[in-house]
Amino acid sequence: MALEEKREKRPPVTPMMIEEEAALRNGSRGLPPGPWAETAGPRPRTTERHIAVHKRLVLGFAVSILALLAVTMIAVLLSVRFEDCGAAADSPPRAGGNGSLSGAARQPPGAGQPPGRPEEEVRGGEAAEEEEEEEEEWQRRRELPPWARPRLPRHLRPLHYNLMLSAFMENFTFSGEVNVQLEVRNASRYIVLHAHRMHIEAVRVAEDKLAGGVRVARTFFYPQTQVFVVVLNRSLEVQRSYNLKIIYNALIENELLGFFRSSYVIHGERRFLGVTQFSPTHARKAFPCFDEPIYKATFKISIRHQATYLSLSNMPVETSVFEEDGWVTDHFSQTPLMSTYYLAWAVCNFTYRETVTKSGVVVRLYARPDAIRRGSGDYALNITRRLIEFYEDYFKVPYSLPKLDLLAVPKHPYAAMENWGLSVFVEQRILLDPSISSILYLLDVTMVIVHELCHQWFGDLVTPVWWEDVWLKEGFAHYFEFVGTDYLYPGWNMEKQRFLTDVLHEVMLLDGLASSHPVSQEVQQASDIDRVFDWIAYKKGAALIRMLASFMGHSVFQMGLQDYLTIHKYGNAARNDLWNTLSKALKRVGKSVNIQEVMDQWTLQMGYPVITILGNETTDNIIVISQERFVYDSDTKPKDPARGDNSYLWQIPLTIAVGNTSHISSEAIIWVSNKSEHHRIPALEEASWLLGNINQTGYFRVNYDIRNWRLLINQLTRNHEVISVSNRAGLIDDAFNLARAGYLPQNIPLEIMRYLSEEKDFLPWHAASRALYPLDKLLDRTENYNIFNEYILRQVASMYLKLGWPTNNLNKSLVQASYQHEELRREVIMLACSFGNKHCHQQAATLISDWISSNRNRIPLNVRDIVYCTGVSLMDEDVWEFIWMKFHSTTAVSEKKILLEALTCSDDRNLLNRLLNLSLNSEVVLDQDAIDVIIHVARNPHGRDLAWKFFREKWKILNARYGEALFMNSKLVSGVTEFLNTEGELRELKNFIKSYEGGAAVSFSRAVETVEANVRWQRLYKEELFQWLRKSLTQ
Ligand SMILES: [Zn+2]
Repeated sequence: MALEEKREKRPPVTPMMIEEEAALRNGSRGLPPGPWAETAGPRPRTTERHIAVHKRLVLGFAVSILALLAVTMIAVLLSVRFEDCGAAADSPPRAGGNGSLSGAARQPPGAGQPPGRPEEEVRGGEAAEEEEEEEEEWQRRRELPPWARPRLPRHLRPLHYNLMLSAFMENFTFSGEVNVQLEVRNASRYIVLHAHRMHIEAVRVAEDKLAGGVRVARTFFYPQTQVFVVVLNRSLEVQRSYNLKIIYNALIENELLGFFRSSYVIHGERRFLGVTQFSPTHARKAFPCFDEPIYKATFKISIRHQATYLSLSNMPVETSVFEEDGWVTDHFSQTPLMSTYYLAWAVCNFTYRETVTKSGVVVRLYARPDAIRRGSGDYALNITRRLIEFYEDYFKVPYSLPKLDLLAVPKHPYAAMENWGLSVFVEQRILLDPSISSILYLLDVTMVIVHELCHQWFGDLVTPVWWEDVWLKEGFAHYFEFVGTDYLYPGWNMEKQRFLTDVLHEVMLLDGLASSHPVSQEVQQASDIDRVFDWIAYKKGAALIRMLASFMGHSVFQMGLQDYLTIHKYGNAARNDLWNTLSKALKRVGKSVNIQEVMDQWTLQMGYPVITILGNETTDNIIVISQERFVYDSDTKPKDPARGDNSYLWQIPLTIAVGNTSHISSEAIIWVSNKSEHHRIPALEEASWLLGNINQTGYFRVNYDIRNWRLLINQLTRNHEVISVSNRAGLIDDAFNLARAGYLPQNIPLEIMRYLSEEKDFLPWHAASRALYPLDKLLDRTENYNIFNEYILRQVASMYLKLGWPTNNLNKSLVQASYQHEELRREVIMLACSFGNKHCHQQAATLISDWISSNRNRIPLNVRDIVYCTGVSLMDEDVWEFIWMKFHSTTAVSEKKILLEALTCSDDRNLLNRLLNLSLNSEVVLDQDAIDVIIHVARNPHGRDLAWKFFREKWKILNARYGEALFMNSKLVSGVTEFLNTEGELRELKNFIKSYEGGAAVSFSRAVETVEANVRWQRLYKEELFQWLRKSLTQ
């Protein structure tokens, strides 16, 4: 599953994170803002459209009534047939004789039962008494009843599911019949499986197909654990196999989880589609099942739908049976063994394009017909074919299914989901129109696809045993985003370079908080599960894997992965299975490292170390290396008071080299495992400097004595190329963050960045720009901000002049060849425009004016977001309106996104407020984009308090909307709060947390720590920084 991420622009969960683009708002205090113009609202609908809409509604209503009748009849028929089957007791004996059950108060209207019977009512009378008695019985035995436990009881195991669905798109309901073949491991009277938010009509248990039924005493839902319980009159016997049949119905919900609907408009007509999102715990909303990853089974799915739609699932369609009334049933082939969370289906009227890999896998990209016609899916389709070939070669395990469909949907809670054979992507992460996409957008699309394809092996073929090790699949998929992109674009050096800024530097910000958590997290309840999908799992997981690959050696690492996938395919594996396989691979090449022992320290402890290297001050060639846990706010009490930060220790593979003015030694590896160690370094001379963590392959920071820092700064200024590009970026990031946390004087990072005027590589600029961003946000509302602004502008000026602006739209082959150069130019323009370089502002304004007057957009693709944002912040509200209009009229998803974000760059508080209010209107702003609007307004110094106020006022609405997709909620919480930095704001935050109701508790405690660290930095270091800047500017 790929979380919604915008490379380089947004850091979602991360506190204190860099976002260069938003820095644009700073220097741009240009023309005075005008009043709000009414016309900036959504275009009014025309009368004709009203009539058309009205007609459709009437028609739709008529169709739904008919469908309602049809469904009722089918349901009645089904239940009659069911009773014919001879099952002794489908329905539990209930007071009032009503055997129907609902997983929640929400029931599908017209789906065969009287709607809306609340659960309490159904569970009344005798049955409830029995239930109580039963609970008391368990209490006497001092045990939780099997349905109240956080995990499913282990006595049953599903072997095979037969799932038959009918999807009624005209009233957004569906009905289903599931037959689960069960194996009994321990005798029990109870069948406990997940089912949530559905209406169960009938239940039957039979001992294999021939023998008779097993009497069902009663059934009930237990909503606290989202399970459905079937109580039998006698125990199921060990080693026998039973069939559980459940007939149910539910809604195709208008939200983002389970089996849900979304829509798009084509030729002025709204079309609907139904699609699933089951990960991590939402399959239970679509069918009763054993919804934990360990319960792998085979699935045979059939979907009945109107012939105007097509249906898709993990496997290809085996046969389709057409009925006379315009309905069709697609029967899909049986899946291999798999878990429920990556099962999937869709009902839509998309079209597709197709390609075939060398090994014969059919790859199709399905999307709305206009996008397919424009060829917007061709890029994704083409790289998917190549990537399957890449992974098959790298893992030496073939892709396991006959086909892979990629589905581009308008609405999705995540960037994408790796359903085996049917991966689902939000349109903005897969459709790409080459004539209007920037390199950055292309990179985003590419990496999301590389990520989901990696999951076809890591996740789908071999699945984590339980959610605590979700990082095993997500860390790998995230790491391979870089490896796979290097395969597609060999010159881009993603794994060696871009990984640092986008993953390592980013996650070290988050993991440097005392309120962080280990990458392997304990997961007790269902409600804990969403919590584990965060950047720690993804990015720290990836960074640890990269460190591991690097100390093992890449080829041994690859061999180990091949073994791991081969041994565990179609099964589940835990982290120790991986460590064991990798240790064995190392042994085969004659190396002996206990990988489990090393890695447990990194995966089970939170945070990371800062290593301090003290040079040869006393005796010759002896250095002192010490480690301690890095934290931004050393005042914060450790989360676990029994365990102070002092007890944190890691086994650290520290690579180290010695350099002098023109040369650097080859690296040596030192395993540091104590608090403090002495090491002998040969050839350490008076003027030579030490450099640790060569190419930043390790997941830790390195600090030195001031003398060594001075020597390094000297080296960078005189001849920076002696130090590798990755280490130059690493030194910048370490220095900024060490200063931020108080380990280093504030001037050191600012002195380091002086050498950038000679830096021609993209990565160090990118690292600097990202590291400057949180500092900028700490200062952007202070009195002396202009001193800081002025200093940065001076560092950027000469490179800005040297590089100039891109001439115009690049052609594709050029993009590939000059990626580094174009990204560097973009970075420098971004810094120049954000900090108020006059030429940059003029250039942006000219480009916007040209667009408005000619109505032709000649703005170079790679800098469009910068130009739009600068234009909106500098120019009057006519420009805002113009961008607003373009946001509505453009069909290209990449363009829509940056236009929307540009609107948040305004200096006009009325406009910002209006935009915030519009963001919650789903007709105007897609649900998943609304969060970005609010966060971007919070990054704008003119809007920070507005977004914060808006957030508090609308919290109930926002929490209801995103609460269940926890990742989005925590992204919102941290995005709105991470740059609050005054005592007053800290108080407001704490008061708000006291009064708010439910949800996102972890995000809020992280927010408090972040704001406390911001306030503390202001108090301790702000003046020191300004003093140095003042002095430096007058020199
Ligand atoms: Zn993923």
